[in-house]
Amino acid sequence: MKSDRCEFCEGKMEQQYVLTRFRYYGQTIYIENAPAWVCNKCGEQYFDAPVYKRLERIAQQRDHIQNTISFPLAEFDMVIT
Ligand SMILES: [Zn+2]
Repeated sequence: MKSDRCEFCEGKMEQQYVLTRFRYYGQTIYIENAPAWVCNKCGEQYFDAPVYKRLERIAQQRDHIQNTISFPLAEFDMVIT
């Protein structure tokens, strides 16, 4: 973390534990309680390098993940009737 300011909106970054969506080689996994820096204005999330590395490691080991969640995945431009 080079500064505690958001590079997009200059908002203040605060450390929070978040449910993050992590994309890895076209796969998407969700990781709970990841320590992230979250902008209090625009909500942009950043991860420190060691945290990011760990997220990658978790993604690489996704075959070992026991818990799966399912949720409705909708497209914003889906037809509403
Ligand atoms: Zn921001």
